[in-house]
Amino acid sequence: MTAARHTHVVIVGGGQSGLAAGYHLRRLGVDFVVLDARSTPGGAWQHTWDSLRLFSPAAFSSLPGRLMPPQPGEEYPDAGHVVAYLRDYEKRYELPVERPVRVAGVHRAGRLLRVETDSGTWHARAVISATGTWWRPFLPALPGRADFGGQQLHTVEYRRPQDFAGRRVVVVGGGNSGAQIAADLAHDTRLTWVTQRPPRYLADNIDGRALFDVATARRRALDEGRSDTAGVASLGDIVAVPPVREARDRGLLKATPMFSRLVPGGVEWADGARAEADAVIWCTGFRPALSYLAPLGLRGRRGHIATEGTRSVGEPRLHLLGYGDWTGPASATLIGVGRSAREAAREIAELVGGLEED
Ligand code: FAD
Repeated sequence: MTAARHTHVVIVGGGQSGLAAGYHLRRLGVDFVVLDARSTPGGAWQHTWDSLRLFSPAAFSSLPGRLMPPQPGEEYPDAGHVVAYLRDYEKRYELPVERPVRVAGVHRAGRLLRVETDSGTWHARAVISATGTWWRPFLPALPGRADFGGQQLHTVEYRRPQDFAGRRVVVVGGGNSGAQIAADLAHDTRLTWVTQRPPRYLADNIDGRALFDVATARRRALDEGRSDTAGVASLGDIVAVPPVREARDRGLLKATPMFSRLVPGGVEWADGARAEADAVIWCTGFRPALSYLAPLGLRGRRGHIATEGTRSVGEPRLHLLGYGDWTGPASATLIGVGRSAREAAREIAELVGGLEED
């Protein structure tokens, strides 16, 4: 049995959020380690579908300190380019990432937090949770799922249209993943695209830059007690990246309202209409990968962990980073996470400094 190790801060997760936090802690002179469950750098970007493109040009998809270089021949970089950027970022700033290390639980241990992993124990004064959402795909509980008999997969398992060539595919979901995967499949499959409400495209000239500004304006309005602007949601759900725009403009992306159940070999609407299907792809979102925080007992009603900025209200030594607007405006984006990471790092530096003076 190896002895417990000590550091000021354990960052759980070595994707873009964990690296951005590490960058700022390093600048503030705080000791830390990053523990990442993957065996290679790049977080969720290592696992996306082949044709995925960022919804912003490279320079507007950058973490603090280092601009993402452009990808030759591509205005909107692909996921492989992001992985290469994150690998380089980690090396350039000599961030101490240990992988593969899976954190199983975080516990209170007097003035410290005890972090249990599959390869030993860490003691730290603070923990930053940066585990993303890709690892907890969400599927709605619809009747008939067990009876369908065809292939069912979630966004996280989809790779390329060739896997479905000529087949009848139902894509469920009116967000960015649903629209991009539907556009990917529109040419080679017999596609039915199903959305809960009619698809809401953002204006064609809006990309990640504008989304960041809108998310920031919303946070400012809420902080100043003004009315909720609804942020990015007020603009629409789908960023019209070039492949989506092209499929939409060619009339290939026709959305159908949500069906009410799955039946053997297909899906069925409330009025009894049916569509036959060989596969259903659930592009129905994600939930934060936070089960390892259960020992801290922070979940309130509806399973939510309350935060002020990135700091947990119930456990001020814990910060949550990169999960969405509730952990900082646009914090679940490359361009947006830097600011929240800086604020989390500053608060933690104060906490750690204060403890040292005790
Ligand atoms: P992740 O990249 O998921 O990294 C978390 C890391 O934590 C992983 O390596 C994981 O293995 C590790 N981990 C998880 N649990 C544990 C544990 N218990 N112990 C140890 N390690 C653990 N953003 C943009 O800016 N531009 C875009 O164009 C864009 N497009 C997107 C398209 C899709 C389909 C999706 C899903 C997201 C997109 N995003 C985009 C959003 C965002 O940038 C990503 O979700 C991003 O991957 C989040 O980074 P992260 O570091 O928070 O999480």
